[in-house]
Amino acid sequence: MSALRIDLYSDTKTRPTAAMRQAIANAEVGDEQHNEDPTVTRLLERIAPLLGQEAAMFLPSGTMANEIAVLVHCRQGDEIISHETAHLFNFEGGAPAALAGAMVSKVSGPRGLYDRATLERAIRPDNRYLPRSRLVVVEQTANIGGGTVWPLEQMTAVVELAREHGLAVHMDGARLMNASVASGIEPARFAGLFDTVYLDFTKGLGAPVGAILAGRKTFIDAAWRWKQRLGGSMRQAGILAAACLHALDYHVDRLAEDHENAQLLARELAALDGITVEPVDTNIVFFDVSGSGLSAAEFNARLLPHGLRAGIHGPTRLRAVTHLDVSREAVLEAVGIVRNVLSAAKG
Ligand SMILES: *Cc1c(COP(=O)(O)O)cnc(C)c1O
Repeated sequence: MSALRIDLYSDTKTRPTAAMRQAIANAEVGDEQHNEDPTVTRLLERIAPLLGQEAAMFLPSGTMANEIAVLVHCRQGDEIISHETAHLFNFEGGAPAALAGAMVSKVSGPRGLYDRATLERAIRPDNRYLPRSRLVVVEQTANIGGGTVWPLEQMTAVVELAREHGLAVHMDGARLMNASVASGIEPARFAGLFDTVYLDFTKGLGAPVGAILAGRKTFIDAAWRWKQRLGGSMRQAGILAAACLHALDYHVDRLAEDHENAQLLARELAALDGITVEPVDTNIVFFDVSGSGLSAAEFNARLLPHGLRAGIHGPTRLRAVTHLDVSREAVLEAVGIVRNVLSAAKG
């Protein structure tokens, strides 16, 4: 089997660039637990206003960011409302229940989004037989929905309704910068609508470790106790924050390239007989291979010997994600490999 050369499994597969490694090597550091790391402090002071928030906290992972938000917002028996495809609901090991004792009520809607009317039906009336609706979660971009960008108007309508009902609102903005670059809308205009926001540095931004949780100062103060309890307080974390600062300087605008590459991939795949491609907003391309007669797992297994990998997201649904380590040439090469696997499957 040849080595994996084109990894479209996820935008988490990036390796730090030489320039990012240099920034890491040069980082000034201190004790993060005591707010003494100058590079972490610099990152937090820069990111909070960028997200339209008062304060921020540096964390080792996005899951910890989402779950600390849940832990601060919710009590046992509270209900979180999220889209049925949401990361927080599906891919965090049941943490809302395991850690916060909260349950999740899932709502549906096309492409990972939902609207105000759908949210309205999911909000519980005040009644002691019912769980207490407490937190509304919006994922920007909606990953499993197709890397979908929430339109600002639809997002605003959902947030306003939640507030009318006294609910807290949290943005899972793992790929917020993709949404911002794709829409031309400043990140703060999306993120500033929310009580709390998480942004990831290890997806399209290409850092090896790092997530941000932002909100009001009182929220961040409360969040620190959970960060401590969960073991998320760090020491010389400036070497990680330096990579994130580097990513803010050099890896945000270039997300447009990933989006162009995803569009190219989508167009080329759509032209192949046996493949159906879902709409593409950002760097995520979902496609169906049922026309090949193969399952998604079989199809992916046949890509591997050619050095190509996608992700399996259903019996016949695959996901390909473009990122920093995937060039336009690599996309075209990937299409060639898919074409060959298709014709071999049919012949
Ligand atoms: C990756 C991701 C997370 C979790 O981040 P980790 O750093 O993997 O813990 C949360 N939400 C979304 C939408 C993600 O893509």
